Order: sequence, then structure tokens, then C-alpha cells
Amino acid sequence: MVTVTAAAPTVTGDERTLTPAQYEEWAAEVRRLADERGAVVLAHNYQVPEIQDVAHHTGDSLYLSRVAAQTDAREIVFCGVHFMAETAKILSPEKTVLLPDHDAGCSLADSITAEQLREWKAEHPGAVVVSYVNTTAAVKAETDVCCTSSNAADVVRSIPEDREILFCPDQFLGAHVKRVTGRENIRIWAGECHVHAGISPSDVRSQIAAHPDAEILVHPECGCTTSVLDLVSNGDLPAERTRVLSTGGMAEAAAATRAGQVLVATEVGILHQLRALNSGTQFIPMNDRAACRYMKMITPEKLLRTLQTGQGAIEVPDDVAARARRAVEAMIAIGEPGRGGE
Ligand code: SF4
Repeated sequence: MVTVTAAAPTVTGDERTLTPAQYEEWAAEVRRLADERGAVVLAHNYQVPEIQDVAHHTGDSLYLSRVAAQTDAREIVFCGVHFMAETAKILSPEKTVLLPDHDAGCSLADSITAEQLREWKAEHPGAVVVSYVNTTAAVKAETDVCCTSSNAADVVRSIPEDREILFCPDQFLGAHVKRVTGRENIRIWAGECHVHAGISPSDVRSQIAAHPDAEILVHPECGCTTSVLDLVSNGDLPAERTRVLSTGGMAEAAAATRAGQVLVATEVGILHQLRALNSGTQFIPMNDRAACRYMKMITPEKLLRTLQTGQGAIEVPDDVAARARRAVEAMIAIGEPGRGGE
């Protein structure tokens, strides 16, 4: 049996914890065990590099949920955070979904509970609840329609103008949606992801000053989103070089760009994939301390142990899963969500 003694989990995102020789041995065993179990390994864009590299599929949360729903594999090993594995389970209730560390949570998903949402709804009877996919299954079950970062504006536009909207949990995505749709009757929950909220307007100012010709990719959960778009509106940033995208959208943009430098405002783990997609461009973090400790809880060692033991199954009560699935399917019915989620 292969054993891996990895260094402590990184908190800087784009670093390896295994030597090349350790990686080869570990990756061969991960693939062998996955084949033996009939498992597919999915990795989010913010996972450590080794896990992104060994996974059968790497991408954003919505993409991975779709792969989970469509795969023929009996078992899904989800390398991401708890709400993502729950979403895969909601969409694929007949499959076993394993999460290598159940403590891999999310500060954004934790910013609203189902109880808080029920109380908010009681204060606004008749309002339509739109929840970002970064929510627990219990919150999705209290939701009318889910959204991703790439289709949030379309979801809001699909709701009649005269209906009040409760948007949760991300205040920065909510403010972005309000701005692009021009909807006034939208109430926004004051939640945030501690990692994205920490990418600030001052980071943007200093990085743009240091890299004046760089393209700019911003995830709408970031605390700097509004100031970046204000710079575009004021003519201080060229619109053609500035985009607000999901992590999946960033990967597509990175593969296509011919820019010499690209500033990236999101969790730093994505830099590994962007650099792999395009070696001719320099990808620079807008804030190099933007690392998600929850994402880094999924270590090579824990992934291997999960495949060895089969432990770590995600369970969602049937009634909660059924109501949550309706909210996700309502989103899909509005239109092709494309790449999306975090
Ligand atoms: S980066 Fe933020 S939104 Fe993403 S999993 Fe971590 S805490 Fe949650």
C-alpha cells in the first residue's frame, strides 16, 4: 500500500506538497484505486495542484455537478467543499458521493442558515428567493430558483418586474446583479466569502499601477468587483481588457488570451490551471494571500485515504434534496447556465 507523508496543507494555494517522485507514486495509486472502486475523482479549481492534476475532471462547481449527474461511475469522490459535494448528491441521489474531509466548509455558505432564510421570507411574503449555488442543501430547499455567477443576472431578469426579490447570500454578487439588471426591488443578504471579500479596491489600484497593460479577470464574489467596474465606467480601465467571470469562464478566457499579463481576482488555487492552459501568458494574483483554507483541507493524503476506505459519504435527507433539486432545476429551465458557480 502506498503511503504519503505530505507537508502541512498549504495556505498559499498554488504550491505543491509532494515531490515529483511522490506525486507519480501517489497519482498511480489514486487512479488504480479509483478504477477498482468504479469511482470518478472530481476537483474544484481551487484545490491544491496535485489534486487538480490527478482528477478525472477539474472545473467550477456547476460544471462538476453536471459531470456528477452524467457520469456512469458508481461513486463520486468530490475534492471541493461541503456544499459542492451536497449539490452533486442532490443532482445524483442514486450515487455515492464521498468528500475527503467533511470539515471543508465555506464561509459564504455559512453566512445564511435555512432558519435565517425562513425568517427573511416571513418578513417579505410573496418575494421570490434567488440563492447562489454556494449555499447548503437546506438553504436551497427554501429557495425558489438558484443561480450561478454566470447566470445570476438572467435569473433575476426572468422574474417579473413587479415581484420583490430576496437575493442571497453573497452581497458582492448581489450588488453586481443589481447593477447590471437595474432592478430596484431586490434585497441583498449581507453575506460574503472571507477570501473574495479580502480582495479589495486597494489591491486593484496597486496591481493595476504595477501592471498597467494587463488584462483583468474578476470573480463577482470579490470585494473589488464594484470598484473595477467603476474604473471601467469612468474610462480608467479599458472595457475590452476587463471581465467579470466565474472560475470556469476564467479558464476559457485564459486559454484564449494573447495578453502578456493577466491580473486574476479570485482564490489563488486557480492560477495553477490558468498557467497550465496558457504558458505564454503571465497570470498574476490580484491578492496573493487570497487562499481558501477550506479548499486546502483536501490534501493528497486524505484523497488517498478516502479511496482506500470508502468513508466520507455525503447524505442529504430525501425531502430536503427534493426541494433543493427543484430550485436547481428551476435555474436550468431558465436557460443554459453555461460555465458557472464558483
Ligand atoms: S473560496 Fe470562499 S466561497 Fe469558495 S469555498 Fe472558500 S470560503 Fe467558500
